Amino acid sequence: MHDSNKKDAQRILISMVLGLIIGLILFYTNNGDLVGYIKPLGTVFIKLLKMIIVPLVFASIFMSMINLGTPEALGSMGRKAVGYYFVTTAIAVFFGLIFVNLINPGVGADLGAEGLNNLSGNMAQRVSDQGGLFQTVVGVLVDAVPSNPAGAMANSKVLQIIVFAIMMGIVALYNPKKSEPVIKVMGALEEMMLALTHAIMKFAPIGIFVLMVGVLAQSGFSAILVLAKYMLTVILGLTCHAVFLLFVGTTRLKKSPIFILKGLAAPLLTAFSTSSSAATLPITMTCVEEELGVKKETAKFVLPLGATINMDGTALYESVAAIFIAQAYNIHLTLTQQIIIFMTASLAAIGAAAIPGAGLITMSIVLNAVGLPLDGIGLILAVDRILDMFRTTVNVFGDCVGTIFVDSFLNKEKV
Ligand code: ASP
Repeated sequence: MHDSNKKDAQRILISMVLGLIIGLILFYTNNGDLVGYIKPLGTVFIKLLKMIIVPLVFASIFMSMINLGTPEALGSMGRKAVGYYFVTTAIAVFFGLIFVNLINPGVGADLGAEGLNNLSGNMAQRVSDQGGLFQTVVGVLVDAVPSNPAGAMANSKVLQIIVFAIMMGIVALYNPKKSEPVIKVMGALEEMMLALTHAIMKFAPIGIFVLMVGVLAQSGFSAILVLAKYMLTVILGLTCHAVFLLFVGTTRLKKSPIFILKGLAAPLLTAFSTSSSAATLPITMTCVEEELGVKKETAKFVLPLGATINMDGTALYESVAAIFIAQAYNIHLTLTQQIIIFMTASLAAIGAAAIPGAGLITMSIVLNAVGLPLDGIGLILAVDRILDMFRTTVNVFGDCVGTIFVDSFLNKEKV
């Protein structure tokens, strides 16, 4: 493990634990308001990470194509990546469905009255704005095409940036001489963004400490107790899926689980504390290349795409949450309805943005598909932020293992 990355990971872990302890102390001494004084540091940290995403994704995807050398090579990599995303997301939902049906966290849960009250106006509006399944899938595809690349960058539309970068890459591959200056600039830009990521990581312990204090000082454990069984179900499902992913990672990379977990400690802990796959992306890219030794061109392509559309944790979470809501409302779901949940949760996760709380918004697609009340989202709102931390960690882990998986095939193809 690179020395500086190792130190970063250790510092992040220490600051997370400290943040947790101090957050709880503030909560239980009724001093939660004090968080307001340090909160800006957490906001600045997330803003710094977000600042790098657009130039990094654009330059990385473009350079990954240049390094791959042909559009066909990209196509082959893309197919493997997308295949991996679909299969692992389906497996994640499957784990979720197994645990929620075994544990039945919503059966007998007396939460009915809280439903609507908890769903604040703004959230209710955003939730009901989500269309049906078909509109969502078509919407994602249509929205992936940018009408104005500058607009896509200004609005951090990562999928649009990826599409534009791929098109630029194809043009550059077919016109190597004309594109030479651009290729040089993009190569330099990419290196600069990675250097900037290293610099920002030095600030991560402070940012992460503040984020952790913020979460705990304002909610403590009270919400957790009421929904303990539900949270346990989600976390158990996520843990099983993470173990499965770790198994895939170790077999494809031919390294020990400890090696993988240590190498990915920094991005996983950052994902946990920021609840955003997108904000974590710069750190994920650095560690996958530097710690796991995955080839640059694979990491540069598979990670940004994965951060945007591959969300195993979110898919699992949505399936458990939907069935929990049905159980809490005493609504019996048939096998067909559970199969619909299986499919819609997988697709809704693709549509979810890689930002905090996005999974809760696309939940409405799953609930709508099987006719469950949208108000049910109010039942799980209180613990969403905490579960978001766990599911985002699994989302990022799934992206990392996907990169290992795709890279292992490319290694073979080259031999
Ligand atoms: N916060 C998650 C992520 O960024 C998305 C979600 O809300 O499930 O990966």
